[in-house]
Amino acid sequence: MPKQSNQHSGHLTNKKTYHNKNQVQKGDTLIYALGGLGEVGKNMYCYEYENEICIVDCGVLFPGDELLGVDYVIPDYHHLIRMNKKRKFLVITHGHEDHIGGIPFLLKQVQIDAIYAPRFAKALILKKLSEHKGLEKVPIIEINEDSSIKTRYFTVGFFNTIHSIPDSLGVLITTPNGSIVHTGDFKFDLTPIGTNADYQKMAYIGVMQPDLLMSDSTNSGVEEFSISEKDVANELLEIMRNAKHRIIIATFASNVYRVNQIIEAALKCHRKVAVFGRSMENVVDIGRKMGVIKIKNSDLLSPDQLAHTPDSEVCILCTGSQGEPLAALSRIASGTHRHIHLKSSDTVVFSSNPIPGNTASVNKIIDKLFRSGATVLSRSVLTNLHTTGHASREEQKLMLQLIKPRYFMPIHGEFKMLMQHRQTAIDTGMDPNKIFVCANG
Ligand SMILES: [Zn+2]
Ligand SMILES: [Zn+2]
Repeated sequence: MPKQSNQHSGHLTNKKTYHNKNQVQKGDTLIYALGGLGEVGKNMYCYEYENEICIVDCGVLFPGDELLGVDYVIPDYHHLIRMNKKRKFLVITHGHEDHIGGIPFLLKQVQIDAIYAPRFAKALILKKLSEHKGLEKVPIIEINEDSSIKTRYFTVGFFNTIHSIPDSLGVLITTPNGSIVHTGDFKFDLTPIGTNADYQKMAYIGVMQPDLLMSDSTNSGVEEFSISEKDVANELLEIMRNAKHRIIIATFASNVYRVNQIIEAALKCHRKVAVFGRSMENVVDIGRKMGVIKIKNSDLLSPDQLAHTPDSEVCILCTGSQGEPLAALSRIASGTHRHIHLKSSDTVVFSSNPIPGNTASVNKIIDKLFRSGATVLSRSVLTNLHTTGHASREEQKLMLQLIKPRYFMPIHGEFKMLMQHRQTAIDTGMDPNKIFVCANG
């Protein structure tokens, strides 16, 4: 069961003055988050003018150890339930769970006129809604960087960003009071894999002097420009080439580009691929349907075929890079996996970084893998086995410089990350009085 977080809605205009909820005036545009501020997860940002509410993203948060038994946390939708007379539409920036995971729960409680989502996210949402009865009625409209949504008060446009999943969009929202750029999750990568970012469009938006920038703060604490996905691809290919026997690679199923690169590298080295773990099987399935992941049926190994294929022609792609106890890799390491038994000749690769908090469980698994005699490769200073999907400080600066907003609001991050992003904005020359570090509600 999901847990609903407890917040109270307040209001903040995008103009110079703060209002408490009793002082909201007719003709104000209200901007507030129901999730995503002071946390990494359950992103949900609302733009309200008169009788219309534009909602950007609708995510879940995966709880830490303090909420034992809770699968995920969803935002408190009560403000939106109370606003039942207002017309609401939902805009999705990309298909990660912290941006789409809450949709079934929102639709059960709140009347939404339409959901606008980019292609890959739409496929994931349709899959999700098919598991819940009675939610198929809400229209899901596919959008891309050229789309424009026009309602009575809002005009919403888009630009391509680079992130770890295909079809990630930034959003430009024009309201009667001014314009807002909402970056969604993004990074900059000058040698990207997949669709490039719309630099020219971003710079052009900057020329128009938007009033407010709301930007991804996840990696505010990381200094250097992120490693390019292309470097990761080369490293993976190198490992795949050098290994003489079986390769087992764990990564995030949510990093669709990485999943594809692992498959591509395997095929280049004449290895067939066996996929294990529900979320990984899911993403390979949808990625193939979308044409983002290209692998023939004959190059995919079923568990039965795996047993009869020479080790040097096998690449096993699995979940569990974060040490999740029930995921495939953890069961492989403890010797309880139905189909895979570790051999000392295996090479096990972590194409991921442990999320802080998961380090201990990841180390436990690495330890077990070493005990089996296998070669274990995880990210270190010497290897480019992983890169992030989020902008580091240098990339955040670039976004600030391209958009050149009048006001700035860091979003998508714990309080510390929001404050670090605030400082980054000040470093680029922004007036501290024009930066709002806000809380949910
Ligand atoms: Zn994301
Ligand atoms: Zn996110």
